[in-house]
Amino acid sequence: MSQKVLLSGIQATGKLHFGNYFGAMKQNIDLANSGGYEAYIFIADYHALTTVKDKNALHESALEIAAAYIACELDLSKATLFRQSSVPEHTELAWVFNNVVTMPYLMRAHAFKDHEAKDKEVNLGLFDYPVLMAADILIYQADVVPVGADQKQHVEYARDIAGFYNRAWNVEQFKLPKDMILESVATIPGVDGTKMSKSKGNVISLFGTDEEVKKAVMGIVTDSARPEDKKNADENNIFNIHKHFLDEEGVATLRAKFENGGYGYKEAKEELLATIMKWREGKKEKFDELMNNQDKIVAILEVGGKKARTKAQETMSQVRGQIGLTK
Ligand code: ATP
Ligand code: MG
Repeated sequence: MSQKVLLSGIQATGKLHFGNYFGAMKQNIDLANSGGYEAYIFIADYHALTTVKDKNALHESALEIAAAYIACELDLSKATLFRQSSVPEHTELAWVFNNVVTMPYLMRAHAFKDHEAKDKEVNLGLFDYPVLMAADILIYQADVVPVGADQKQHVEYARDIAGFYNRAWNVEQFKLPKDMILESVATIPGVDGTKMSKSKGNVISLFGTDEEVKKAVMGIVTDSARPEDKKNADENNIFNIHKHFLDEEGVATLRAKFENGGYGYKEAKEELLATIMKWREGKKEKFDELMNNQDKIVAILEVGGKKARTKAQETMSQVRGQIGLTK
């Protein structure tokens, strides 16, 4: 039996943070390194264009994502790591899908509605984001797409779009969506308590400087409870970030500290900071070393890009035949 295909992408929109790590990277690394999957992990630079218009920032962010995956020990013999833009077939398939997706359907997407609600002008790339994401997933015939809760709707869109395509051309090209397992993870809050996001400036960065990390952790927004007060752990930002670093026993111990009282926010932040610094030991050095040797990262991404493209071209050549672009 052939292996299940795992696919995951991160937008090249800024500094990686612990929401990305616990929400996506960690699962991807564990699943890929287990050897049980044909794993495709990509840097979504076409998606990033919807918001990033600075070429240096885009390139730097793309390399940082690759360096972070490697520093966090993604086994490159078991996963294909690549830039989305090195496989232009993603956009070609998205164009095909555009012809079976309606505007009202896309208007129901959360990302679009959020932008509209803020009275922001929505560019076509952003409007079409779910279609490109469907192409990302379906071009590799992915079975497993581990994403955070924020991306759940996009994966559901991919299921729908697979069906729209199959029905429009009366083919069984894309796997029936029920075969796609969605492993959803909780949303990690940012320092302000809302979802940690690269584009929101509320992050604790994975591989920023020690000072940046310290500043972010000490700046976590808390209520006005005094150290001696008993605190509701589940409603506390510090707890809700810290718990992801701990095993079950560690979480129980931390919970008790909050709930028993006598655990002030300054101490809670200092302990979280110590946990983060410990997590970074070794990884941060590896990350910095790679970022100082960017040619090495580029070379790794090129190898991954070629491999991914071969697979994507197989799908595209079937699609081209099915829709009449070739005979
Ligand atoms: P942007 O602000 O540009 O959307 P982002 O921080 O939301 O950036 P993405 O590139 O959109 O990051 O998402 C990469 C992966 O990280 C996705 O699988 C997403 O579900 C996951 N992710 C992002 N933020 C969080 C979070 N706060 N908690 C859990 N998972 C997250
Ligand atoms: Mg996002």
